[in-house]
Amino acid sequence: MYDIIVVGGGPAGLTAALYAARAGKSVLVLEQETLGGQIAYAPLVENYPGLPGMRGGDFADQLARQVREQGAQLRMEGVSAMRTRGEVIELTTDGGTEECLALVLATGVSHRKLGLAGEADLVGAGLSYCAVCDGAFYQGRPVAVVGGGDAALQEALFLSQRCAQVTVIHRRDLFRGEQRLVDQLRGRDNVDFRLSSQVTSLLQANGELTGLRLADRKRGTEEELKVDGLFVAVGQEPRNEIFANLVMTDDRGYFVVHEDCATSLPGVFAAGDCRAKEVRQLTTAVGDGAVAGLAACRYVDQRKN
Ligand SMILES: Cc1cc2nc3c(=O)[nH]c(=O)nc-3n(C[C@H](O)[C@H](O)[C@H](O)COP(=O)(O)OP(=O)(O)OC[C@H]3O[C@@H](n4cnc5c(N)ncnc54)[C@H](O)[C@@H]3O)c2cc1C
Repeated sequence: MYDIIVVGGGPAGLTAALYAARAGKSVLVLEQETLGGQIAYAPLVENYPGLPGMRGGDFADQLARQVREQGAQLRMEGVSAMRTRGEVIELTTDGGTEECLALVLATGVSHRKLGLAGEADLVGAGLSYCAVCDGAFYQGRPVAVVGGGDAALQEALFLSQRCAQVTVIHRRDLFRGEQRLVDQLRGRDNVDFRLSSQVTSLLQANGELTGLRLADRKRGTEEELKVDGLFVAVGQEPRNEIFANLVMTDDRGYFVVHEDCATSLPGVFAAGDCRAKEVRQLTTAVGDGAVAGLAACRYVDQRKN
């Protein structure tokens, strides 16, 4: 049995593990997809204090190495269920069962879908949720990005360095993301914009995306846009369902926590993007990770002494 198990090896989970391992606890991190979480896909991170202009992938690699060096175990394994047996917390994982005294949930968020017909079938056949992962497939070809936040703007900038044409589609007049990113995009010859516009259908031939139908909500007009790739960055949603029968979530599915990141279930803490909060960023994820990691250590100490 471990003192502390962390579900999710993103910045929040790895930071919780770092603090807990440095405090001498036995720690296991379970990660189902990518060590480093979302930040591993960020081409350039410009707002992390003290490390301007770092690559997200480098940050993820270094953080994972740092956590391992402190003695935490990192395993690529998903968690599919949780239950309690007295004070012991049991997890069902891809590999079997694991037990701990304290649990840190750092499950992050996943990409929100457009909800259009054919969307799921076109993933990998023209439709992507990650420019860093899939952008290279569209070298010299026309693509579109849907979304108006920082992630969408960063994806569009990244793609504009590779693709023939990048059309940024946003349902509002104004972008939610940083003005500096918008200005950079406006300075690129191969980027154009469709504001107040929505994708109403995905066009395809032989199972491949060939274009989009767009509705301009202000003008009341429709158009077809020929693109080989569509990158969707329309926000995120939590993936906390498997824990929600035991741990309280808000009406959007985010874990509700106290100031020390404790959830409604004793011994279970939640950190990072998966919890209810205003700002979901790298800085706030690692901040939560430190708080949750130390609170989990205190909880374990109280049980053992
Ligand atoms: C393209 C992109 C660019 C970004 N750029 C910036 C930026 O410049 N600056 C900034 O501050 N922020 C940026 N962000 C946001 C930042 O990456 C997130 O706020 C941060 O990663 C949140 O960390 P987290 O650990 O809470 O969650 P995540 O990074 O989402 O990590 C959660 C991890 O939990 C794992 N997981 C989930 N459920 C399970 C389960 N059941 N079992 C096992 N593992 C599970 C997931 O696979 C994931 O790896 C960017 C995000 C993206 C996508």
